Amino acid sequence: MQQQVGEIVQTLKARGLRVTPQRFSVYANLLSRTDHPTAEQILSDLNQDFPVSSQATIYSSLQALREVGLVREVLLDEGVSRYDANVAPHHHFRCDGCGAIEDIPWNTFQGLDLGQLRLGLQATTYEVAVQGLCDLCHPRD
Ligand SMILES: [Zn+2]
Ligand SMILES: [Zn+2]
Repeated sequence: MQQQVGEIVQTLKARGLRVTPQRFSVYANLLSRTDHPTAEQILSDLNQDFPVSSQATIYSSLQALREVGLVREVLLDEGVSRYDANVAPHHHFRCDGCGAIEDIPWNTFQGLDLGQLRLGLQATTYEVAVQGLCDLCHPRD
């Protein structure tokens, strides 16, 4: 963990962010999980060890981390912002049963042809959102 602390501090500094305990703990929390939490979930997680953070500090830390490209916002449920420290290109699977969101590796969908878009549209990027049921939610046979 000690080395990881150093690495996280270096990463924040390399992006020109002043390292505050809030930014550090929000980023460390996001790096440690893959479930795309909401700000509220991050807050309740952090407050278990350290009941000092408020929702406002979580939001401002997330905002600062997003601005420098260390964290991305994931919008798969209407009106719900979730956060992801995996900023490499990838897709998402969302379970309609339990709401779980997991990453789908970028190379899962090969050969999607953006050249099929109508004339006049220039694509810069895309992302696939798959909905369905996860292992825990689909009926087993
Ligand atoms: Zn599920
Ligand atoms: Zn993701």
